Amino acid sequence: MTELLRAGATMLAETCPSCGSPLFRLKSGEIQCPLHGKIYLVSTEEEASTATLMAVLNRVEELAASKISALANSLGSGNDYEAIELLDKWLTIALRIQEIKRMMQPQKPPEEAVSKDKK
Ligand SMILES: [Zn+2]
Repeated sequence: MTELLRAGATMLAETCPSCGSPLFRLKSGEIQCPLHGKIYLVSTEEEASTATLMAVLNRVEELAASKISALANSLGSGNDYEAIELLDKWLTIALRIQEIKRMMQPQKPPEEAVSKDKK
């Protein structure tokens, strides 16, 4: 543990899933357990920000849905041109959200990159 700290590693609030030891983040960005060595954790910060973004997307999507429905109801009441223009914008937003959500779907982790530069 002291070796890790001496090497410039920082102790994290997360603990090793196997032994419960505090985990360390190395200067290289790798997460290491003092007992088990390198650990492949999905960055919890990343997961948290993904969850936040998803919540925002859901909120905007709901808003878009209600705007679209309100605009659709207002069609034919005289302001058609304006309403259609707005409708188009909200539909574009809704479509973008769908695209972003699709891209955020959990994907298979990429094949572990084999380190080629053996020095
Ligand atoms: Zn461990």
